Amino acid sequence: MPAAAGKRSGEAAAPHATRTAQAAPGGNSASLGIYAKYIDAPGAAEGSKAFSPMAARVQRFALQSVARQLLPESRTAKCLRWRAYNQDVKVWKAVEHGTAHYSGLQTCASVWACPVCAAKIAERRRAEVLAAMTTHQARGGNVHLLTLTVPHQRGDDLVQLLALQAKALKRFWDDRQVKAVFADMGNIGQIRATEVTHGRRSARNNGWHPHYHVLLFTGSGVDLGRFDKPQRRDWEVRLYLVWARVCEAVGLGVPSIAHGLKLDPGDKASQYVAKWGLEHELTYGHIKKGKAGGETPFDLLRSVLADQDDKQAAALFREYAQAFKGKRQLHWSHGLKAQLAIEEASDQEVVERLEEGAELLGQLTPDQWRDVLKVEARATVLEIAARCSWHHVQRFLWLIEGAHKGVQVPPDVLHEARQLLLSDRGK
Ligand SMILES: [Zn+2]
Repeated sequence: MPAAAGKRSGEAAAPHATRTAQAAPGGNSASLGIYAKYIDAPGAAEGSKAFSPMAARVQRFALQSVARQLLPESRTAKCLRWRAYNQDVKVWKAVEHGTAHYSGLQTCASVWACPVCAAKIAERRRAEVLAAMTTHQARGGNVHLLTLTVPHQRGDDLVQLLALQAKALKRFWDDRQVKAVFADMGNIGQIRATEVTHGRRSARNNGWHPHYHVLLFTGSGVDLGRFDKPQRRDWEVRLYLVWARVCEAVGLGVPSIAHGLKLDPGDKASQYVAKWGLEHELTYGHIKKGKAGGETPFDLLRSVLADQDDKQAAALFREYAQAFKGKRQLHWSHGLKAQLAIEEASDQEVVERLEEGAELLGQLTPDQWRDVLKVEARATVLEIAARCSWHHVQRFLWLIEGAHKGVQVPPDVLHEARQLLLSDRGK
């Protein structure tokens, strides 16, 4: 709709707001609205450590706004901000989950850069992987988890590291001995997940750590009695020797014997899949300093949210987003989906799918939506919608009315209004 596309004046003002805020004491950017106010104290805001789907959703919106600051030209910068062609912004409540969501907005479907889309896609992909494993196991099969890492150090260029790693992997799959081990294991196919962490907070900062987790669908037509520990160790050593050889051949150096390649049995595979795509949900709030696994890309966003002066995290996230753009996060080997009867759906289809069993609460006018964007209150509107009523949402919209035209709504006032409305629920 031309009216929506033409009126971007509120968005254009954001860089100015950022500059003003950075000069102010405290350092938190006003362009992130009220997020920084309460993200700092998740325990206080949410009352307990219990997992709350709505609290997780609020955090994802906050992190998405950070991603928008860092990647202003990306589709993620428009995601769930710009209206979809000829659509109204509507708010829905999923009664069963106690959550609320929007419709009528553009979505970016980026698994790498967008915390909101990534979570939605991961939920669906995790269910697909679990369904595939269940089907395979019901047919008497096994699933092994193969983890492949490469040597890396601080200063490595991520794009180059990924290219070399992919080259090594190609040689690995094509290797005669790898094929022989997979045949021994009765492997019918695999699902590969690509992940990356950064070790800047560890004592020995060794930079980007891209790695693969591969689920091997094993045990087809082979004697399950042979899947004991010594046998697995034998396969592991044989696979490691090839992995070490191909890594060295492509110029990556020799991966460590301890961590370069690991072959784990089914229980580890199940644990891995159960947590896949949830790592950013499990560490609500602050970043664990110096944690062994390194920081995930969304940890970097969290770091910028907590401290706008963390220029290193900002630069690393930009480098990461650029390097991973267009890459596949999960790769199923040819024919595996069909064998295990898993339906094909693109990332875009997944994010556009409406949640089932949701009821329509109400609709925002284009001007109201511009006000919400201006004060970065997308998540607040959803919180109030999820926990209170549409009437409460309207009170909030009334409070911020005119924000996109320059009416000042200080973050403190927003924060208090949010607290007040949320504590007023049920009245
Ligand atoms: Zn998105």
